[in-house]
Amino acid sequence: QPVVAIVGHPNVGKSTIFNRIVGQRISIVEDTPGVTRDRIYAHADWLDHKFSLIDTGGIEISNAPFVKQITAQAEVAIDEADVIILMVNGKEGVTDGDDHIARILYHSNKPVIVAVNKIDNLKQQSDIYDFYSLGLGDPYPISGAHGKGLGDLLDQVIKVLPEDHHDNVNDGIKFSLIGRPNVGKSSLVNAILGEKRVIVSKKAGTTRDATNTHFVDHHQKYTIIDTAGLRKRGKVYENTEKYSVLRAMRSIDDSDVVLVVLNADEGIREQDKKIAGYAHEAGKGIIIVVNKWDQVDKTSATQRNFEGAIRYQFKYLTYAPIIFVSALTKQRLNQLPKLIDKVYHNHEKRITSSNLNDVMMDAISMTPTPTSGTKRLRIYYATQVASAPPTIVIFVNDPTLMHFSYQRYLENQFRKSFDFTGTPLKLITRSRK
Ligand code: GDP
Repeated sequence: QPVVAIVGHPNVGKSTIFNRIVGQRISIVEDTPGVTRDRIYAHADWLDHKFSLIDTGGIEISNAPFVKQITAQAEVAIDEADVIILMVNGKEGVTDGDDHIARILYHSNKPVIVAVNKIDNLKQQSDIYDFYSLGLGDPYPISGAHGKGLGDLLDQVIKVLPEDHHDNVNDGIKFSLIGRPNVGKSSLVNAILGEKRVIVSKKAGTTRDATNTHFVDHHQKYTIIDTAGLRKRGKVYENTEKYSVLRAMRSIDDSDVVLVVLNADEGIREQDKKIAGYAHEAGKGIIIVVNKWDQVDKTSATQRNFEGAIRYQFKYLTYAPIIFVSALTKQRLNQLPKLIDKVYHNHEKRITSSNLNDVMMDAISMTPTPTSGTKRLRIYYATQVASAPPTIVIFVNDPTLMHFSYQRYLENQFRKSFDFTGTPLKLITRSRK
Protein backbone atom coordinates (compact mmCIF):
# COMPACT_ATOMS: atom_id res chain seq x y z
CA GLN A 1 0.00 0.00 0.00
CA PRO A 2 1.42 3.41 -0.94
CA VAL A 3 2.24 5.82 1.86
CA VAL A 4 1.56 9.54 2.23
CA ALA A 5 3.26 11.57 4.97
CA ILE A 6 2.34 14.97 6.36
CA VAL A 7 5.21 17.14 7.58
CA GLY A 8 5.39 20.70 8.84
CA HIS A 9 5.83 22.98 11.83
CA PRO A 10 4.13 22.27 15.10
CA ASN A 11 0.69 23.87 15.22
CA VAL A 12 0.14 24.21 11.48
CA GLY A 13 -2.74 21.77 11.89
CA LYS A 14 -1.24 18.46 10.80
CA SER A 15 -3.23 16.26 13.14
CA THR A 16 -6.48 18.04 12.32
CA ILE A 17 -5.94 17.32 8.65
CA PHE A 18 -4.76 13.79 9.43
CA ASN A 19 -7.98 13.11 11.32
CA ARG A 20 -10.12 14.64 8.59
CA ILE A 21 -8.51 12.53 5.87
CA VAL A 22 -8.62 9.35 7.90
CA GLY A 23 -12.19 10.15 8.93
CA GLN A 24 -14.25 7.93 11.11
CA ARG A 25 -11.98 4.95 10.57
CA ILE A 26 -9.98 6.21 13.50
CA SER A 27 -12.78 5.86 16.03
CA ILE A 28 -12.04 2.25 16.57
CA VAL A 29 -14.10 -0.66 17.66
CA GLU A 30 -12.34 -2.76 20.19
CA ASP A 31 -11.48 -2.10 23.77
CA THR A 32 -7.74 -2.37 23.29
CA PRO A 33 -6.25 -0.05 25.88
CA GLY A 34 -4.03 2.78 24.73
CA VAL A 35 -4.27 2.09 21.04
CA THR A 36 -6.40 4.79 19.52
CA ARG A 37 -4.96 7.76 21.36
CA ASP A 38 -2.16 9.77 19.76
CA ARG A 39 -2.23 7.82 16.55
CA ILE A 40 0.16 8.82 13.79
CA TYR A 41 -0.46 6.06 11.25
CA ALA A 42 -3.75 5.04 9.71
CA HIS A 43 -5.38 3.73 6.57
CA ALA A 44 -7.20 6.16 4.32
CA ASP A 45 -8.74 6.27 0.88
CA TRP A 46 -9.85 8.79 -1.68
CA LEU A 47 -11.81 7.99 -4.83
CA ASP A 48 -11.11 4.27 -4.53
CA HIS A 49 -7.40 4.79 -4.02
CA LYS A 50 -6.15 3.28 -0.80
CA PHE A 51 -3.10 4.59 0.98
CA SER A 52 -1.58 4.81 4.44
CA LEU A 53 -1.18 8.18 6.07
CA ILE A 54 1.56 9.22 8.51
CA ASP A 55 1.51 12.31 10.70
CA THR A 56 5.21 12.89 11.33
CA GLY A 57 4.32 15.54 13.90
CA GLY A 58 4.00 12.82 16.48
CA ILE A 59 7.67 11.94 16.23
CA GLU A 60 9.38 13.79 19.04
CA ILE A 61 12.99 13.57 19.98
CA SER A 62 13.22 14.49 23.61
CA ASN A 63 15.17 17.64 24.38
CA ALA A 64 16.30 18.15 20.80
CA PRO A 65 16.29 21.71 19.46
CA PHE A 66 13.57 22.79 17.07
CA VAL A 67 15.63 22.46 13.91
CA LYS A 68 16.62 18.92 14.80
CA GLN A 69 12.99 18.03 15.44
CA ILE A 70 11.72 19.20 12.09
CA THR A 71 14.74 17.75 10.28
CA ALA A 72 13.93 14.36 11.78
CA GLN A 73 10.31 14.68 10.67
CA ALA A 74 11.35 15.43 7.13
CA GLU A 75 13.75 12.47 7.15
CA VAL A 76 11.09 10.10 8.43
CA ALA A 77 8.79 11.28 5.65
CA ILE A 78 11.47 10.75 3.03
CA ASP A 79 12.29 7.29 4.38
CA GLU A 80 8.74 6.09 4.73
CA ALA A 81 6.54 7.85 2.22
CA ASP A 82 5.85 7.84 -1.51
CA VAL A 83 4.25 11.27 -1.46
CA ILE A 84 4.90 14.05 1.05
CA ILE A 85 2.50 16.83 2.00
CA LEU A 86 4.34 19.83 3.40
CA MET A 87 1.87 21.74 5.49
CA VAL A 88 2.39 25.43 6.15
CA ASN A 89 0.43 28.13 7.95
CA GLY A 90 -1.29 30.59 5.60
CA LYS A 91 -1.78 33.03 8.41
CA GLU A 92 1.94 33.29 9.13
CA GLY A 93 3.51 33.26 5.71
CA VAL A 94 6.78 31.47 4.96
CA THR A 95 8.86 30.83 8.08
CA ASP A 96 12.52 29.85 8.41
CA GLY A 97 11.37 26.40 9.48
CA ASP A 98 9.31 26.02 6.28
CA ASP A 99 12.35 26.98 4.23
CA HIS A 100 14.48 24.49 6.09
CA ILE A 101 12.06 21.58 5.58
CA ALA A 102 11.44 22.54 1.95
CA ARG A 103 15.16 22.40 1.19
CA ILE A 104 15.50 18.91 2.67
CA LEU A 105 12.43 17.65 0.82
CA TYR A 106 13.53 19.30 -2.41
CA HIS A 107 16.61 17.08 -2.54
CA SER A 108 14.70 13.88 -1.79
CA ASN A 109 13.32 13.19 -5.27
CA LYS A 110 9.95 12.43 -3.69
CA PRO A 111 6.84 14.21 -4.92
CA VAL A 112 6.05 17.04 -2.50
CA ILE A 113 2.76 18.91 -2.33
CA VAL A 114 2.52 22.18 -0.42
CA ALA A 115 -0.72 22.54 1.51
CA VAL A 116 -1.42 26.00 2.92
CA ASN A 117 -3.63 25.55 5.94
CA LYS A 118 -5.85 28.03 7.79
CA ILE A 119 -7.17 29.55 4.56
CA ASP A 120 -10.66 29.68 6.00
CA ASN A 121 -12.25 32.00 3.43
CA LEU A 122 -11.84 33.37 -0.08
CA LYS A 123 -10.43 36.69 1.10
CA GLN A 124 -7.33 34.89 2.33
CA GLN A 125 -6.69 33.11 -0.99
CA SER A 126 -3.98 35.59 -1.94
CA ASP A 127 -1.99 34.54 1.12
CA ILE A 128 -0.95 31.39 -0.66
CA TYR A 129 1.21 33.07 -3.33
CA ASP A 130 3.99 33.65 -0.82
CA PHE A 131 4.57 29.91 -0.73
CA TYR A 132 5.69 29.66 -4.35
CA SER A 133 9.04 30.78 -2.96
CA LEU A 134 9.48 27.33 -1.41
CA GLY A 135 10.19 26.08 -4.92
CA LEU A 136 7.85 23.09 -4.63
CA GLY A 137 5.19 24.06 -7.14
CA ASP A 138 1.59 25.16 -6.73
CA PRO A 139 0.48 25.61 -3.14
CA TYR A 140 -2.97 24.16 -2.30
CA PRO A 141 -5.17 26.23 0.01
CA ILE A 142 -6.99 24.22 2.68
CA SER A 143 -8.89 24.80 5.87
CA GLY A 144 -8.59 22.19 8.54
CA ALA A 145 -11.14 24.01 10.62
CA HIS A 146 -13.78 23.92 7.89
CA GLY A 147 -12.57 20.92 5.94
CA LYS A 148 -12.27 22.99 2.78
CA GLY A 149 -9.83 22.35 -0.05
CA LEU A 150 -9.12 18.78 0.99
CA GLY A 151 -10.71 17.37 -2.16
CA ASP A 152 -8.39 19.26 -4.49
CA LEU A 153 -5.39 18.40 -2.33
CA LEU A 154 -6.24 14.70 -2.32
CA ASP A 155 -6.90 14.73 -6.07
CA GLN A 156 -3.36 15.94 -6.49
CA VAL A 157 -2.02 13.33 -4.05
CA ILE A 158 -3.72 10.57 -6.05
CA LYS A 159 -2.26 11.94 -9.26
CA VAL A 160 1.31 11.49 -8.05
CA LEU A 161 0.76 8.35 -5.99
CA PRO A 162 2.63 5.34 -7.39
CA GLU A 163 0.64 2.29 -8.49
CA ASP A 164 0.02 -0.19 -5.72
CA HIS A 165 1.52 -3.18 -7.41
CA HIS A 166 0.56 -6.47 -5.90
CA ASP A 167 3.35 -8.58 -7.25
CA ASN A 168 2.06 -12.08 -7.06
CA VAL A 169 5.33 -13.68 -6.18
CA ASN A 170 4.84 -16.52 -3.79
CA ASP A 171 6.05 -15.24 -0.46
CA GLY A 172 4.74 -18.19 1.50
CA ILE A 173 3.83 -17.28 5.06
CA LYS A 174 4.60 -13.65 5.82
CA PHE A 175 5.50 -12.73 9.38
CA SER A 176 7.08 -9.85 11.23
CA LEU A 177 8.70 -9.29 14.59
CA ILE A 178 7.52 -6.30 16.51
CA GLY A 179 8.48 -4.93 19.90
CA ARG A 180 10.35 -2.20 21.71
CA PRO A 181 13.91 -1.36 20.73
CA ASN A 182 16.46 -3.84 22.14
CA VAL A 183 14.09 -6.66 22.96
CA GLY A 184 16.16 -8.68 20.50
CA LYS A 185 14.21 -8.60 17.23
CA SER A 186 17.27 -8.41 14.96
CA SER A 187 19.07 -11.04 17.00
CA LEU A 188 16.06 -13.33 16.67
CA VAL A 189 15.93 -12.86 12.92
CA ASN A 190 19.60 -13.74 12.62
CA ALA A 191 19.21 -16.72 14.92
CA ILE A 192 16.13 -18.00 13.09
CA LEU A 193 17.86 -17.69 9.77
CA GLY A 194 21.04 -19.28 11.09
CA GLU A 195 22.24 -21.69 8.50
CA LYS A 196 19.07 -21.54 6.45
CA ARG A 197 19.20 -20.67 2.82
CA VAL A 198 18.29 -17.01 2.71
CA ILE A 199 17.04 -15.16 -0.30
CA VAL A 200 17.10 -11.42 0.06
CA SER A 201 14.83 -9.58 -2.31
CA LYS A 202 14.48 -5.92 -2.91
CA LYS A 203 11.18 -5.18 -4.52
CA ALA A 204 11.74 -2.79 -7.35
CA GLY A 205 9.80 0.42 -7.27
CA THR A 206 8.46 0.18 -3.76
CA THR A 207 9.18 2.76 -1.13
CA ARG A 208 12.39 3.17 0.84
CA ASP A 209 14.48 0.19 1.80
CA ALA A 210 11.70 -2.35 2.15
CA THR A 211 13.74 -5.49 2.25
CA ASN A 212 12.06 -8.75 3.02
CA THR A 213 13.90 -11.98 3.67
CA HIS A 214 12.71 -15.37 2.49
CA PHE A 215 13.66 -18.75 3.87
CA VAL A 216 12.45 -22.31 3.70
CA ASP A 217 11.83 -24.63 6.65
CA HIS A 218 10.51 -28.17 6.20
CA HIS A 219 9.47 -27.35 2.62
CA GLN A 220 7.42 -24.34 3.71
CA LYS A 221 8.42 -20.93 2.44
CA TYR A 222 8.44 -17.99 4.87
CA THR A 223 9.00 -14.29 4.37
CA ILE A 224 10.18 -12.08 7.19
CA ILE A 225 8.67 -8.66 6.59
CA ASP A 226 10.77 -5.54 6.89
CA THR A 227 14.03 -7.13 7.90
CA ALA A 228 15.72 -3.93 6.82
CA GLY A 229 13.75 -1.99 9.38
CA LEU A 230 15.30 -4.15 12.08
CA ARG A 231 18.81 -3.10 11.18
CA LYS A 232 20.08 -0.03 12.90
CA ARG A 233 20.98 2.82 10.64
CA GLY A 234 21.96 5.35 13.27
CA LYS A 235 19.27 7.93 12.57
CA VAL A 236 18.29 10.16 15.48
CA TYR A 237 14.62 9.28 15.35
CA GLU A 238 15.15 5.54 15.30
CA ASN A 239 14.78 4.93 19.00
CA THR A 240 11.79 7.16 19.56
CA GLU A 241 8.69 5.36 20.67
CA LYS A 242 6.52 6.80 17.92
CA TYR A 243 8.91 5.73 15.22
CA SER A 244 9.07 2.14 16.45
CA VAL A 245 5.31 2.11 16.60
CA LEU A 246 5.12 3.45 13.06
CA ARG A 247 7.56 0.84 11.82
CA ALA A 248 5.65 -1.86 13.68
CA MET A 249 2.33 -0.84 12.18
CA ARG A 250 3.71 -0.88 8.68
CA SER A 251 5.14 -4.37 9.18
CA ILE A 252 1.91 -5.62 10.72
CA ASP A 253 -0.01 -4.43 7.66
CA ASP A 254 2.07 -6.65 5.40
CA SER A 255 2.09 -9.74 7.64
CA ASP A 256 -0.08 -12.81 8.07
CA VAL A 257 1.36 -13.58 11.49
CA VAL A 258 2.92 -11.16 13.95
CA LEU A 259 5.47 -12.13 16.58
CA VAL A 260 5.14 -9.79 19.53
CA VAL A 261 8.59 -9.89 21.12
CA LEU A 262 9.02 -9.24 24.85
CA ASN A 263 12.20 -9.03 26.86
CA ALA A 264 12.13 -11.59 29.68
CA ASP A 265 14.76 -9.58 31.47
CA GLU A 266 12.67 -6.44 31.71
CA GLY A 267 9.16 -7.79 32.07
CA ILE A 268 6.18 -6.15 30.44
CA ARG A 269 6.20 -2.40 29.80
CA GLU A 270 3.49 0.02 28.80
CA GLN A 271 4.89 0.24 25.27
CA ASP A 272 4.72 -3.55 24.87
CA LYS A 273 1.01 -3.36 25.52
CA LYS A 274 0.50 -0.66 22.93
CA ILE A 275 2.44 -2.53 20.27
CA ALA A 276 0.60 -5.78 20.98
CA GLY A 277 -2.66 -3.82 20.85
CA TYR A 278 -1.92 -2.73 17.28
CA ALA A 279 -1.36 -6.32 16.17
CA HIS A 280 -4.58 -7.42 17.82
CA GLU A 281 -6.55 -4.57 16.31
CA ALA A 282 -5.22 -5.42 12.86
CA GLY A 283 -6.75 -8.88 13.20
CA LYS A 284 -3.55 -10.77 12.43
CA GLY A 285 -2.35 -14.10 13.74
CA ILE A 286 -0.31 -13.43 16.88
CA ILE A 287 2.41 -15.28 18.79
CA ILE A 288 3.95 -13.85 21.95
CA VAL A 289 7.69 -14.49 21.97
CA VAL A 290 9.50 -14.00 25.27
CA ASN A 291 13.15 -13.51 24.34
CA LYS A 292 16.33 -13.47 26.48
CA TRP A 293 15.00 -16.40 28.49
CA ASP A 294 18.65 -17.32 29.10
CA GLN A 295 19.03 -14.18 31.24
CA VAL A 296 16.40 -15.16 33.78
CA ASP A 297 17.13 -17.02 37.01
CA LYS A 298 14.58 -19.76 36.84
CA THR A 299 12.77 -21.86 39.38
CA SER A 300 10.03 -24.32 38.54
CA ALA A 301 7.43 -21.54 38.81
CA THR A 302 9.16 -18.83 36.77
CA GLN A 303 7.65 -19.65 33.42
CA ARG A 304 4.17 -20.11 34.86
CA ASN A 305 4.41 -16.77 36.66
CA PHE A 306 5.59 -15.00 33.54
CA GLU A 307 2.74 -16.53 31.58
CA GLY A 308 0.33 -15.37 34.24
CA ALA A 309 1.67 -11.84 34.00
CA ILE A 310 1.28 -11.88 30.22
CA ARG A 311 -2.28 -13.17 30.40
CA TYR A 312 -3.08 -10.51 32.96
CA GLN A 313 -1.48 -7.61 31.05
CA PHE A 314 -2.68 -8.67 27.60
CA LYS A 315 -6.23 -9.67 28.41
CA TYR A 316 -7.42 -9.30 24.83
CA LEU A 317 -4.72 -11.71 23.57
CA THR A 318 -5.92 -14.88 25.30
CA TYR A 319 -5.77 -16.69 21.96
CA ALA A 320 -2.06 -16.00 21.37
CA PRO A 321 0.38 -18.81 22.17
CA ILE A 322 3.43 -17.89 24.26
CA ILE A 323 6.89 -19.24 23.55
CA PHE A 324 9.98 -18.68 25.71
CA VAL A 325 13.15 -18.43 23.63
CA SER A 326 16.68 -17.14 23.53
CA ALA A 327 18.28 -15.66 20.47
CA LEU A 328 21.60 -16.15 22.23
CA THR A 329 21.38 -19.88 23.04
CA LYS A 330 18.80 -20.60 20.30
CA GLN A 331 16.60 -22.30 22.87
CA ARG A 332 13.28 -23.41 21.24
CA LEU A 333 13.95 -21.37 18.10
CA ASN A 334 13.60 -24.44 15.92
CA GLN A 335 9.99 -24.74 17.12
CA LEU A 336 9.14 -21.28 15.92
CA PRO A 337 8.57 -21.89 12.18
CA LYS A 338 6.19 -24.75 12.93
CA LEU A 339 4.26 -22.58 15.38
CA ILE A 340 4.04 -19.76 12.82
CA ASP A 341 2.79 -22.27 10.27
CA LYS A 342 0.10 -23.50 12.65
CA VAL A 343 -1.10 -20.01 13.54
CA TYR A 344 -1.15 -19.07 9.87
CA HIS A 345 -3.40 -22.01 9.04
CA ASN A 346 -5.72 -21.27 11.95
CA HIS A 347 -5.97 -17.66 10.79
CA GLU A 348 -6.89 -18.84 7.28
CA LYS A 349 -9.20 -21.57 8.55
CA ARG A 350 -12.70 -22.08 7.16
CA ILE A 351 -15.30 -24.10 9.05
CA THR A 352 -18.29 -25.51 7.20
CA SER A 353 -21.67 -24.17 8.26
CA SER A 354 -22.86 -27.60 9.33
CA ASN A 355 -19.90 -28.12 11.67
CA LEU A 356 -20.26 -24.62 13.01
CA ASN A 357 -23.98 -25.02 13.68
CA ASP A 358 -23.55 -28.41 15.33
CA VAL A 359 -21.20 -26.83 17.84
CA MET A 360 -23.41 -23.80 18.32
CA MET A 361 -26.58 -25.78 18.91
CA ASP A 362 -24.80 -27.95 21.48
CA ALA A 363 -23.57 -24.79 23.16
CA ILE A 364 -27.08 -23.34 23.28
CA SER A 365 -28.54 -26.50 24.76
CA MET A 366 -25.87 -26.51 27.49
CA THR A 367 -26.28 -22.84 28.40
CA PRO A 368 -29.59 -21.19 27.51
CA THR A 369 -29.50 -17.88 25.67
CA PRO A 370 -29.91 -14.68 27.73
CA THR A 371 -33.22 -12.91 28.20
CA SER A 372 -34.13 -9.28 28.65
CA GLY A 373 -37.46 -8.79 30.40
CA THR A 374 -39.75 -11.29 28.75
CA LYS A 375 -37.72 -11.45 25.55
CA ARG A 376 -35.28 -14.25 24.93
CA LEU A 377 -32.43 -14.19 22.45
CA ARG A 378 -33.16 -16.66 19.67
CA ILE A 379 -30.23 -17.87 17.63
CA TYR A 380 -31.10 -19.28 14.21
CA TYR A 381 -27.84 -20.17 12.58
CA ALA A 382 -24.21 -19.19 12.11
CA THR A 383 -22.01 -19.04 9.05
CA GLN A 384 -18.38 -18.15 8.45
CA VAL A 385 -18.27 -15.25 6.00
CA ALA A 386 -14.52 -14.60 5.86
CA SER A 387 -11.15 -15.89 6.94
CA ALA A 388 -7.92 -14.13 7.99
CA PRO A 389 -9.23 -13.64 10.62
CA PRO A 390 -12.13 -16.10 10.72
CA THR A 391 -15.33 -14.07 10.80
CA ILE A 392 -18.59 -15.67 11.83
CA VAL A 393 -22.01 -14.11 11.43
CA ILE A 394 -24.66 -15.28 13.88
CA PHE A 395 -28.26 -14.69 12.82
CA VAL A 396 -30.66 -13.95 15.68
CA ASN A 397 -34.09 -12.49 16.40
CA ASP A 398 -32.73 -9.31 18.01
CA PRO A 399 -29.00 -8.42 18.17
CA THR A 400 -29.47 -6.17 21.22
CA LEU A 401 -30.26 -9.29 23.22
CA MET A 402 -26.82 -10.77 22.51
CA HIS A 403 -25.00 -10.23 25.75
CA PHE A 404 -21.23 -9.73 25.69
CA SER A 405 -20.72 -12.63 28.06
CA TYR A 406 -22.86 -14.95 25.93
CA GLN A 407 -20.92 -14.03 22.83
CA ARG A 408 -17.72 -14.76 24.73
CA TYR A 409 -19.20 -18.12 25.73
CA LEU A 410 -19.97 -18.99 22.10
CA GLU A 411 -16.48 -17.94 21.04
CA ASN A 412 -15.00 -20.22 23.70
CA GLN A 413 -17.13 -23.11 22.51
CA PHE A 414 -15.96 -22.58 18.93
CA ARG A 415 -12.38 -22.44 20.14
CA LYS A 416 -12.83 -25.70 22.06
CA SER A 417 -14.12 -27.51 19.00
CA PHE A 418 -11.91 -26.04 16.29
CA ASP A 419 -8.28 -25.10 16.73
CA PHE A 420 -8.09 -21.32 16.47
CA THR A 421 -4.87 -20.95 18.46
CA GLY A 422 -3.14 -17.70 17.58
CA THR A 423 -5.96 -16.09 15.65
CA PRO A 424 -8.61 -13.61 16.73
CA LEU A 425 -12.19 -14.59 15.92
CA LYS A 426 -14.73 -12.04 14.83
CA LEU A 427 -18.29 -12.77 15.83
CA ILE A 428 -20.95 -10.56 14.31
CA THR A 429 -24.58 -10.72 15.41
CA ARG A 430 -27.23 -9.85 12.82
CA SER A 431 -30.97 -10.00 12.83
CA ARG A 432 -32.40 -12.45 10.34
CA LYS A 433 -34.48 -10.81 7.69
P1 GDP B 1 16.19 -5.09 18.54
O1 GDP B 1 16.37 -3.63 18.76
O2 GDP B 1 14.87 -5.56 19.08
O3 GDP B 1 16.43 -5.55 17.15
O4 GDP B 1 17.29 -5.80 19.51
P2 GDP B 1 18.71 -6.44 19.15
O5 GDP B 1 18.54 -7.70 18.37
O6 GDP B 1 19.58 -5.40 18.58
O7 GDP B 1 19.22 -6.88 20.60
C1 GDP B 1 19.45 -5.94 21.63
C2 GDP B 1 20.52 -6.46 22.60
O8 GDP B 1 20.06 -7.63 23.25
C3 GDP B 1 21.80 -6.88 21.90
O9 GDP B 1 22.87 -6.48 22.73
C4 GDP B 1 21.70 -8.40 21.82
O10 GDP B 1 22.97 -9.01 21.80
C5 GDP B 1 20.96 -8.74 23.08
N1 GDP B 1 20.15 -9.97 22.95
C6 GDP B 1 19.27 -10.26 21.96
N2 GDP B 1 18.68 -11.48 22.18
C7 GDP B 1 19.21 -11.97 23.31
C8 GDP B 1 19.02 -13.18 24.06
O11 GDP B 1 18.23 -14.08 23.74
N3 GDP B 1 19.75 -13.33 25.20
C9 GDP B 1 20.62 -12.39 25.62
N4 GDP B 1 21.28 -12.62 26.74
N5 GDP B 1 20.84 -11.24 24.94
C10 GDP B 1 20.16 -11.02 23.81
